Amino acid sequence: MDVYGLLGNPVGHSLSPPLHEAAYDELGLEARYVTFEPEPEDIADAIHGADALGIAGLNVTIPFKQDALKIVAPEDLATRIGAVNTIDFSGSGPPTGYNTDAVGALRALRDHDVTVEGARAVVVGAGGAGRAVAFGLADAGATVAIANRTEPKARELAADVPHATGHGLTELETLVPEADVLVNATSVGMEEDVSPVPADALHDDLAVLDAVYQPLETKLLREAATAGATTVDGAWMLLYQGVEAFEIWTDRDAPVAAMNEALRSRL
Ligand code: NAP
Repeated sequence: MDVYGLLGNPVGHSLSPPLHEAAYDELGLEARYVTFEPEPEDIADAIHGADALGIAGLNVTIPFKQDALKIVAPEDLATRIGAVNTIDFSGSGPPTGYNTDAVGALRALRDHDVTVEGARAVVVGAGGAGRAVAFGLADAGATVAIANRTEPKARELAADVPHATGHGLTELETLVPEADVLVNATSVGMEEDVSPVPADALHDDLAVLDAVYQPLETKLLREAATAGATTVDGAWMLLYQGVEAFEIWTDRDAPVAAMNEALRSRL
């Protein structure tokens, strides 16, 4: 029996257990996915203990993604993003840390036939999700404009991301009409039915990914659909970050349809 899990605090409402267990069921794998809530001061012991116990892989969520980076051997992309959300214990050396949010966003876009290579992309947000998406898009060959409420954070991030520029939110009015891809990586739209992007900037040559997945249909995605844009909801990004983790851990193609169904039935 292989044991996988999630480290976070709190993790009570996480969708990762049903997402991964749907994959084990579909492929007939003898595996379980469990959640752990260590105290913040115990995070290093928790990761080393998981390694010692033979746990096969862990996802990491708030508030431990930055701490995990210092405890495992991170891949280059995770180091640049500054956060680890997936740990693989299968090697003989120290556990390897990955950030699958970046690839999750890229796979979500590609699944909807969106070309990222050479695209002019706008990322709204410069927090954890914004960092991951900005690096992911840049590595895939997009030029990236990062717009954030706290503009200096956007400029700092843009200084680290290749071919990126940093902006305040007011500049979205001029950036979005020129863009091919737009990603909302803020939490705007979650608690209230508001959009971080002016509706009249949206257009029908645009693909819009909203990282927010609760609700699935945000005001931004409704207005993007009205403008004729391609829309990709946040459950696709959530799905593909899990798919990517599953594939890192098992070296098998993930049963994407079964995982998607399990996820969407709970949203
Ligand atoms: P975070 O690190 O706390 O960053 C929050 C971001 O939202 C910052 O850029 C912040 O701007 C901005 N923001 C917050 N309230 C705002 C407001 N009222 N107006 C304008 N901007 C505002 O959070 P995170 O981890 O990046 O997560 C951001 C969102 O992405 C959340 O909704 C999360 O659920 C979602 N997410 C989804 C996935 C997925 O797989 N679908 C993965 C990761 C995250 P300031 O810098 O100015 O504060």
